[in-house]
Amino acid sequence: MIDTMHLFVTNKCSNNCPLCCNKNYDIEKIPLPTEEELNSIENVFLTGGEPFLLGEKLNKIVNALRSRKNIKNIYIYTSGYECFEYLKKFENLPNINGINFSPKTDRDWNALARINFGWSQDFRNLRSNRLYVFIKEYDRGTFDLDNSNNLDIISEAYFNMNCRVFFRVWMNNIESRPNEIFRRLENYD
Ligand code: SF4
Repeated sequence: MIDTMHLFVTNKCSNNCPLCCNKNYDIEKIPLPTEEELNSIENVFLTGGEPFLLGEKLNKIVNALRSRKNIKNIYIYTSGYECFEYLKKFENLPNINGINFSPKTDRDWNALARINFGWSQDFRNLRSNRLYVFIKEYDRGTFDLDNSNNLDIISEAYFNMNCRVFFRVWMNNIESRPNEIFRRLENYD
């Protein structure tokens, strides 16, 4: 049974990762969600691009999804830096259940440290947060095992921000699970 939708909300991003999966497909060919799908899913993962670049529009998207009683969990993917910029501007997170961080650059790692410094309680209040760590020795990750600053940030994210930590390598194609669908907003930029 399909219960999870990954919803592409923007193609904007302030990073330019060489292996960005958005370079592998035609975004226009991602289907739009149907009413039936929106009325039956339980979990939505907002993705892009960088969803936090949408600013106030991100709040509107989250609130519109929240108005559907069947949707129980809303999560946002971010590389980190734009989440920090969003928090500086709006002070609070949108009405979500969790964040999936995947820092790609030193700027993202530094932003994660500053988010922990200023907003860790907000993150502890969320149901589920994840930190995906791409290791430098493999492919094009930025996490450096020899950099103790990175290790401190991971441990702070784990202990202070309620982030489960996953170590990953880059993949060109990420297969959807049978219970998941990938859709896009009609106006996604
Ligand atoms: S942060 Fe994500 S969306 Fe942005 S360029 Fe990198 S992989 Fe692509």
